[in-house]
Amino acid sequence: MGRLEPDGRVRPFAFIDSTPLIEAAVTDEGPDSLRLGDAMADGRWLSPVSDPSKIVGIGLNYVDHATEATMAPPSEPLVFAKFPSSIIGPGATIRWSRSVSSSVDYEAELAVVIGARAREVPLEHALDHVFGYSCLNDVSARDLQFGDKQWVRGKSLDSFCPIGPVIVTADEIPDPQNLSITCRIGSDVLQDASTADMIFGVAELVSRLSHWFTLEPGDVIATGTPPGVGWFRTPRRLLGPGDEVTVDVGGIGSLTNPVVVDE
Ligand code: MG
Repeated sequence: MGRLEPDGRVRPFAFIDSTPLIEAAVTDEGPDSLRLGDAMADGRWLSPVSDPSKIVGIGLNYVDHATEATMAPPSEPLVFAKFPSSIIGPGATIRWSRSVSSSVDYEAELAVVIGARAREVPLEHALDHVFGYSCLNDVSARDLQFGDKQWVRGKSLDSFCPIGPVIVTADEIPDPQNLSITCRIGSDVLQDASTADMIFGVAELVSRLSHWFTLEPGDVIATGTPPGVGWFRTPRRLLGPGDEVTVDVGGIGSLTNPVVVDE
């Protein structure tokens, strides 16, 4: 699948038009063993997003999260990068080495997936460039993030960007600023908010970002996390071995990932 660009080139975006991939397609048993229904029933989903040109992270985009971080709410979107190599799907393991980080945190976020190239898009047309929405866990190594004074390493370790379980297309989500968003570890609910509390909503993010750099089809915007992250809790509640962390966004689904730490 592809789309004809104004300059006559075809832009492929097959992964956007497809249903999520199924891991059974790459098992050792060969293609004859592929049973799509079984794989779906078993939850063997890969991330519905693969190899975007960029993941744009937005920092401090909920007032109460900025407050818990003792930071002033930003006057314009605070942008950082997560490397696309950090993406994993639902059920895949969030994994790191203890020698790399001892302070790994969760961040429940609404993910925006771009469907049409966006460059200098006015606010009123911004949502036309959104293909759909998913759940995203902006997993963050706080010791690296704060120690480095910039965030890319602490946000980009392998497996630190679970996305899924599906992309819900934008036509199914008429108001992205009216979605519940939660994070829990096991049954402990640690974040519980609404996307209504975003400082910069989805349309404003797409428009503003598109004046700074071109958003390509498949690009992901991690729209920021509400209050309740582990680092700022008393006592702290960071991710550790044996945890199962779930991000849930209303109307989209639940994204659950187990945690393994290599000692
Ligand atoms: Mg975040």
